[in-house]
Amino acid sequence: MESEARLTDYIEKNILQTMQDAFSDMTGLAAITTNSDGTAVTEGSGFCRFCSKLAGECPLGCQLCEYSVKTGALDAQMEGKPVIRRCHSGLLIISAPIVVGDEIVGCLAGGHVLTQAPDEAECRRHAAQLGIDPEEYLTLIREVEIVPQDRIEKAMDFLYAISHFLSDMAYSKYNNDKANSEIARAAKMKSDFLANMSHEIRTPMNAVIGMAEMALREDLPDNARRYISQIKSSGRALLTIINDILDFSRIESGKMNISPVEYEPVSLFNSVAGVIMTRLFDKNVELVLNLNVDMPRLLYGDCTRIRQVLINLANNAVKFTDSGQVRFVVDFSRIDEEYIMLNVSVEDTGIGIKPENLERIFDSFSQVDSKRNRSTEGTGLGLAISKELLNLMNGQLHAESEYKRGSVFSFKLPQKVVDNTPTMRVKDPEKALAVGMFRNEYVSDGFAWDAAKLGLNVMSLAPDADLELAIDTVRKRNPGRNLFVFIDQDLFDKEKISFVEKNPDITAVMVSEFFGHVEKGPDNLLIARKPLSAMSLTMIINHGNVQFDDITEKAEVMNFTAPDAKLLIVEDNPVNLSVTEGLLEPLMMDIRTASSGKEAIRKIEEEHFDIILMDHMMPEMDGVETTRIIRRMYPDYADVPIIALTANAVSGVRDVFLSEGMNDFVPKPVDLQVLTSVIRKWIPEEKVIRAD
Ligand code: ADP
Repeated sequence: MESEARLTDYIEKNILQTMQDAFSDMTGLAAITTNSDGTAVTEGSGFCRFCSKLAGECPLGCQLCEYSVKTGALDAQMEGKPVIRRCHSGLLIISAPIVVGDEIVGCLAGGHVLTQAPDEAECRRHAAQLGIDPEEYLTLIREVEIVPQDRIEKAMDFLYAISHFLSDMAYSKYNNDKANSEIARAAKMKSDFLANMSHEIRTPMNAVIGMAEMALREDLPDNARRYISQIKSSGRALLTIINDILDFSRIESGKMNISPVEYEPVSLFNSVAGVIMTRLFDKNVELVLNLNVDMPRLLYGDCTRIRQVLINLANNAVKFTDSGQVRFVVDFSRIDEEYIMLNVSVEDTGIGIKPENLERIFDSFSQVDSKRNRSTEGTGLGLAISKELLNLMNGQLHAESEYKRGSVFSFKLPQKVVDNTPTMRVKDPEKALAVGMFRNEYVSDGFAWDAAKLGLNVMSLAPDADLELAIDTVRKRNPGRNLFVFIDQDLFDKEKISFVEKNPDITAVMVSEFFGHVEKGPDNLLIARKPLSAMSLTMIINHGNVQFDDITEKAEVMNFTAPDAKLLIVEDNPVNLSVTEGLLEPLMMDIRTASSGKEAIRKIEEEHFDIILMDHMMPEMDGVETTRIIRRMYPDYADVPIIALTANAVSGVRDVFLSEGMNDFVPKPVDLQVLTSVIRKWIPEEKVIRAD
């Protein structure tokens, strides 16, 4: 049976050529492989001038030749052995089929010789039929070798053996292809199924969580509140698993798209640190964030996917670490003018991974050492997804670990630079001296590292040092320098507070836990929440009181609700959005959200808000542009406070915001107290309900 398939679908051309050359070398006869219709696949080996002329220059001659090869192979298949045919010109051709099952996918033909001298009259007749000059025809055919019968028979056996071998090769390729296409089909069916399923589950799950959230706003008996909180947190956990499965199946079926946008890397890393801080709540683990202070201000890449990878890695680090630290190191190197390579690592001092398990952790649905990890939830998909996402963005994920000591997950990711200006720059760093007094060595080391990178003079004090004495000495040795003294909240006893109060020339900074309760102290005492980073140092040194001067007494700050006040949060990043929303939950305000400047404008046309929180960096229309439009085009909004949310720590930024029509700004990562006190300050007084 003749096939539509090409011979090269089954066997590579160079293999065919090699086999055919071997036949030709061994027998001294010409050889060629063809498709099942007789058309040549390889270059002929050992062909005489007569055949080359006929096949190369005479279309009819070529067709007749192909016909002889093809019918020879068909006959050979019927007879189960190679057959000899004579071509139109009387040359002898041995043809053998190359088959897959009972289908001929190609032919191997050899010979093209004579067994006796050509008959001149016959030759002249053939030449006339083929339209070739008879004299040339005669000259060329006389050059064709005349071969004895026994040599032909030996060649026949050899040709048959080779065609068998090629048929076996073709058959195994055919089986392989069939198996692969079945595997691909099954994989696609599985991915499609998973994608549909997860989508179908996600929709009602969102409703379950949303309703639970709404129920929790009601006045509920304690038991009911506990049950509903459990529904909400289990719902969230389930949603995470479903989202993982959805992502995974999207990646598997090639439907995961990477959508690059302009983003501020420092704000991205800070906000991830903020999310991770909330998970460290009840753990004896410090989060240390080391950012390269020269990090370009704006990059172009898929920041949502980068955040997803970071949160995955950081969540794992937190999950598998009971004490010590989780350290985020964000560095970069230049590739060229336009691109940088982000080098990010998440290090932990947790349980570590055995060497034999290290490779397996990237497999999907794989959780290693499950006995030890029984208490930690997860799907075993996080790392597989992270790895694939990074691959899609031309990045690479790498893991190192020492069992029982800790792990380092790091990735390299090329990113395009949009704005090379470094995000963090301290004004006159040589004039400042940063003194650190921390109980925890990781925090202390991280602080020294960051301060040094910013070009500040830096020194560390032991947690039990005599502050008064130490500062006295430092002051004498560093005349004219501004002293910034960073002290752990739990080292800040009454004595230290009164020392700070009596020494207004120093700026003291109380480094508090993320959720810690902070009392307002003397004016020269600022508060910075962990994780301390180069970003928060820059903020403090450049802006002094700005970040914190709005904080009134903590009790005062949190002691109100505003259920009638309408708040619009404009933020393009869904994670930030939900963090901000979550932080504001206790105020019970009526919160709406918009994910872009355009959407914000649509929303303010639909209803009236009492206050707007406006992210600074957003694609298309940023916060400043959106504010400009609101102020100019919507007179109803002339007096509505607009508060900028920004990760921009460059000095002078406050003035820029104010001159553009914003009323205030809150630095990112958003601090609960700062945000609450700014809202308290700006919402209409009649909408504030004091709790006492
Ligand atoms: P999961 O959702 O189960 O955490 P991952 O793919 O993220 O899935 O991780 C796979 C496995 O790799 C985990 O179950 C754990 O055994 C191991 N692992 C990942 N990160 C760490 C880490 N930082 N320390 C120790 N083990 C880890």
